[in-house]
Formats: sequence, C-alpha cells, structure tokens
Amino acid sequence: MTERHSESLGGSRRLLKLLRDQMKGKGSNQDHLNQIVELIAQDFEAEVCSIYVMRKDQVLELVATKGLKREAVHKTTLRKGEGIVGLVAEQAIPLAVTDAPHHPNFAFRPETGEEPYQSMLGVPIMRNGQVLGIIAVQNLLHRQYEEDEVEALETVAMVLAELVSSEDLVFQEDSEDANKPDRIVGLCLTSGLAVAPAVMHNRGIVISRMTCEDPDAEVNRLLKNVTEMRGSIDDMLERTEIAALGEQREVLETYRMFAADRGWIGRIADAIRNHNLSAEAAVQRAQEDTRKRMSQISDPYLRERLADLDDLSNRLLGHLLGSVHLEKDLPEQFVLVARTMGPAELLDYKGKKLRGVVLEEGSPTAHVALVAQALEIPVLGQCRGVLERVREGDVLVVDAEHDQVLIRPAEAVAESFRSSFKGRRQRWAEISAERELPPVTKDGCRISLNCNAGLLVDLPNVVNSGADGVGLYRTEVPFMVRQSLPGIGEQAELYRKIYSGVEDRRVVFRTLDVGGDKVLPYWSMAAEENPAMGWRAIRIGLDRPALLRQQLRALIRASAGRELSVMFPMVADLSEYRAARDLLEFELNREASIGGELPVSLRLGAMLEVPSLVWQLPEICPHLDFLSIGSNDLLQFFFAADRGNTHLSRRYDTLSLSVIRMLRQIARVCHSNGVDVTVCGDMASHPLEAMALLASGYRSLSMPPLQVAAVKTMVRTLDLETASDFLDNLVLEGTADIRAGLEGYAERFGVNISGR
Ligand code: PEP
Ligand code: MG
Repeated sequence: MTERHSESLGGSRRLLKLLRDQMKGKGSNQDHLNQIVELIAQDFEAEVCSIYVMRKDQVLELVATKGLKREAVHKTTLRKGEGIVGLVAEQAIPLAVTDAPHHPNFAFRPETGEEPYQSMLGVPIMRNGQVLGIIAVQNLLHRQYEEDEVEALETVAMVLAELVSSEDLVFQEDSEDANKPDRIVGLCLTSGLAVAPAVMHNRGIVISRMTCEDPDAEVNRLLKNVTEMRGSIDDMLERTEIAALGEQREVLETYRMFAADRGWIGRIADAIRNHNLSAEAAVQRAQEDTRKRMSQISDPYLRERLADLDDLSNRLLGHLLGSVHLEKDLPEQFVLVARTMGPAELLDYKGKKLRGVVLEEGSPTAHVALVAQALEIPVLGQCRGVLERVREGDVLVVDAEHDQVLIRPAEAVAESFRSSFKGRRQRWAEISAERELPPVTKDGCRISLNCNAGLLVDLPNVVNSGADGVGLYRTEVPFMVRQSLPGIGEQAELYRKIYSGVEDRRVVFRTLDVGGDKVLPYWSMAAEENPAMGWRAIRIGLDRPALLRQQLRALIRASAGRELSVMFPMVADLSEYRAARDLLEFELNREASIGGELPVSLRLGAMLEVPSLVWQLPEICPHLDFLSIGSNDLLQFFFAADRGNTHLSRRYDTLSLSVIRMLRQIARVCHSNGVDVTVCGDMASHPLEAMALLASGYRSLSMPPLQVAAVKTMVRTLDLETASDFLDNLVLEGTADIRAGLEGYAERFGVNISGR
C-alpha cells in the first residue's frame, strides 16, 4: 500500500468518525451540512466542498458549501446532465476533472464565484441505485485526484446519503407534473401485458446505521448473515415449483455459486475493517461498486453476472436488516419496478400477486427474463428513468409487446388495456383452436412457420403454437447456464430430450455460438475490443475442433434413427463451412466404424450472418442443403450498428431499401440453386416484416413460439402474388420508406398485421 493510499484511508476513517459525531449532535440538518462541508474540505485539502441535493423535480440544488459564495446556497440549481455536477448525476458515477473551466460540460454560474477553481471531483450520493445528490470538492490548482481519494469521497457520500434523504432537505412540494400520466419506451424482455399498481423493489431497505464501533464484531455479524442467506437460497432451490423449472433451475444454481464467492464477501469485510462501516453500509458500498462496473460493461453476459451480484447484495441486506419476508404487505396485484433484478429475487415475489416487471436496465438475455418467461410474467427492460418517474402505488400498464410502460394512465386508458388483456386471453384460447389451421396464403401458397428455441421449457410452446418445427435451436444456452462444460453423454441426453419434446417435428440444431457476448462461465477467454466481431461461433469451433467434434458426436448419437439437421453459425467464408462439414463427416464415419446407429438423413446448412457470404452464395450453395438468415447479426454488420446498443436500435430500419434489396438477392440465388432458405432472426417474428420477407421470395420463417399465431394470421390474409408485385414496384422506384408503403398496402388489401 502506498503512503498516500494509507494516509487517505486513514483520513477517511477519521473523517467518518467526525461526520458521525456531527450528525448525532444538536442542530438542524442545515447546520449539520454547513459543518460537514467544512470538515470534508479540510480532510481533502480542498478549497471548496459543496453538496447538491436532488429535488423531487429532478433538479439539483446547492444546499451547502465551503468555499463558494454563500448567497448561491438554495439559489444555484442544475438539471441532470447540466454542468459537471449534472453530468455526475446523470452518469451516477464519480468524475474527476483537472481543468474544469475548459470541460465541455462546464456551466457558468456567476453567483457561485467558482471560475478560479481548476480541478473538481464530483461523487454521486446514492441510495438504492438512485442519485440523491452530489458531493463535490474543488481545488484552485490543477490536481490529479487519486483513485483512493475518489473511493474515500464515495464512502463519505454513502454516510451522507442518510442526511441528504431526510425530509427537511426536500425543498419542493410534489409538483403537478409528478401526478401526470407518463410513458417510457423500453425493450420487451418477456412479452405480455399487465395492469396493476407499482411496488418499488427494495423499498424495505433503509439503512439507518452506517458506521460501527467494533469492526471485528461487525464482520462476524456479516458472516453469520451470509450463512443464513446461503441456507435460505438452498431452501428456495429445494422448493418443488423451482425444482420443476428445468433449465431455469440451473440459472439459479449458478446464482447459488455466487453466494459462496469468497472475493465478494472479502470485499465487504474489507470495507467494514478499512472504513468502520456497518455491515449493511459495507454491502451497499460493494453493491454501488458492482453497479458502477455494470454501467461500464457492455458485454451482456458479464452484466448479467454482475446483476446476480446486485441481487445477492439485496438479499444479504434483507437478512442483515431482518426484512426478508417480502410478501407481508404487498397489494393484491402489482407490477414490480427495479433497477435490475436477479432470478432469485423474482421468485421471492412469485405467486398470483406479481403481474409484471419493469426494469431500469436488463437485457434480453437477462436471467430474470428466462425465469419470467417460464412463469409467464411480462418483463420490460431498459426503461430509462423509471425509478425516478414512478412512485409506489402508481398504476402501471406494462405493454411489453409494444415496448412501453404507461405510468398513471387515465382510468379509461387503463380500463381499455384491462379489457384488451381479457380479449388477449380469449385470443390465446382461439389460437389453440386455430393452431391446426394451415399457414397458407389466400392465393394458396403454403408457408413453413417454425420456432426458435434454446431451453427445454420452450418446447411445449413449440408444439402448442402449431409450428412446423424448430428452425433454430440455440444450443449454447444450456452451455451458458452450467458450471462446467457438459460431456458428450450429457449433451446427447439433452438433444434427445429436445427431439422428444417436439414430438415428430424437425429441429435445426445450430452448433455452439459462444464467444462474443456469450461467455461460458468456466472458460476464460481473453477480453476483446469488438467481441461481436471477434473469436466466436464457428471460428472457435474450427480453432478448437475438439469442442465442435464433441458436440457433433452428441448430436449424431441423439439423432440415431431420425433426421439430423445442423447449421453452423457466423460463416464468413466457404472454406469455414467446408472445414466444419469435414468435421461432421469425420464424426459420422467414426460413429459408423464403431457400429453406432446413424441418423437416417442429414441436412446441413450455414447461417448467413456475415455480409461477405452474400457474395459467395453461388459458390457455397452447391454445398448446402439449406441457408438460414440470422438477421440480427447480419443487419448489425450490414449497418455497422451494434445490435445491443439501445441508442442505435431505432436508427436503421429493417425495412429499408438496402436491406430489402439484399434479402431479395439472397432469396433469388438460393432458389436458382435449389437451396432452402429461411429467416430465423428477429425480423421474421413481426407480421409486417414477415410480409416483406414473403414478398421478397421467402417461404420459410422461424420465430419465438408466441409470435407464430400473429404471423400466421398475416399469412392467411395475404395475397402473395399482389404483395410481391407491390414490393417489386417499391424497390424499382427506389422508394425510401418501404415500411410506410407496406403498411399502406396491408391496410388497403386487408392483410392483418396487427398481431391479433
Ligand atoms: C441472428 O443473428 O439473427 C440469430 C438468429 O442468431 P442469434 O440471435 O442467436 O445471434
Ligand atoms: Mg446470430
């Protein structure tokens, strides 16, 4: 430890004691704050220390300062994102700036007299993931704030959270806006609809004791509660309804493993020892660190791991605070609102009461989404600002299919959603009745509708949807939720279960698409700058042939006596496909040589996800039985727009002229070479996009089971010949807005693209 480091930690401990004494002493909160800024400025050797508090109208107000002009207190305000202080609030992470007046975000506030100060360190004051305020220190000279100084100020900010959140610092009454209806656009993680009042997750977690007198006793208290928590997780996993969850259970098993993570517990114990924090405050401190890391990591899988840790922190806090029994005072029905949530937390709320979940963060691969799917609970993720804009008890409409949550809607609006909800249930009943109806267009063209799946729990839905089969089985999902690489026998057993789950339908197995954002927990891979374009999918399969060969062997064994359909992901070059096919042939020969029963037939395909393959189709087609277009990856590389980046998700239209031209060309070349072609990316699952695909020449689509009915309804109301002619014209004329053109067509010719 450097001298500076130990000094700074020592300083922080001393300061914490002074702050604690100050907060316990007599006087108003304002008096305390005035003293506190003095103490902090002194300890940090800073000329200025200021505290800003976030008001209910989401404006930061300067409430105390040492060093800036006193008359600015309660006058200077900044919106989120405004000024360096506003930026810290917006990003919810610390920010150190050595040349503040020249920082692009510097906001000139003459009343504060802050222009001469060159350096600034701002740290958010957080509680339960919400920014309550900002604490900022400033220095006249250029100063490089060290990492341990940032950490020390963060610890101070934690202690201050208590004072800052107290009622008499709230300067503004509820504004009228706070009662107005609102709407946030998010991302559907699990489809469905729910109308119910909001319950804020973690509402019960209020930490009133931030520091401790005896760190050793506090660490013992922590360990006792960790043991208790582990016991309760074990109990939860033994409960029968969870035991029946199948693969989702494995997600939870991974979570159990996290609960035993020594590094995590060690970090919390260190925070108790180094800063005299209470166990609760130390857990929260570790939790804030995790959240900070989450905000900096784009890899969805790693984010998911960190979300599990966040979930565990909440659980541990519940134990420490004695508030583990969540069920007590919940309303009859409710929608849960949280920053992020782990699968185990969702199960805590499970039962008839929980109707939906709205998350400030969360990705489609989130474990909570996988578990919610099994429980049929709609989940809407990436709802920026939801924690601030929703209050406990507000009525919410979670319309996950349309990626939106309505907050405090007018009663009439809520009612119409309720009745549409009833209508939808009825619709599902009708769908089951309709499931035998053939997906044939009005002019008699039979379309093959298939499902995408990746978990055993998806399979009953495949059957119920009336689909022809599974057009894409993502085999990597079971690999991702296990704690070690499954062996050949275990894999073969799983593939057999898949076959029996779909009864006699066709299943197209995609070989492992790991790497990129799909990390295997037990396999350490070097970090890459651009993982989506890195060492992933077939590239790994060919560089580590043992892995791919084992999987192929397991697939061959599982398909003994029936058809085996296999496709390789992310093929960018004919040579890759041929090398992968050679491995399959090697394994078939091997199996035959030892007298194993072989599949009765073989269908081999490639996924088209990399644009380079579009211009090798004439060469690759003679080697293919089928081609499957992974439009999710294909379009991300086509537009150079990260598919996981929410800022870009609405920037380029899937139905743009360039995409349609490419897709028509692919369909044409495949048809002329007699190769079956399917689209299995997200595009195929929306009725309008699916209509564009059919009109572009596709006759086979694959989508999540719940979308089959909507696409089938479109198919059965479509006259394919006129739609194809119509699209031909749009393309010939170079129409910019193909989407609008096709919507107009559907309306005029009565094609049902409403999804109902
Ligand atoms: C795709 O890229 O469109 C696809 C179906 O594969 P995944 O979404 O699993 O990457
Ligand atoms: Mg893909």
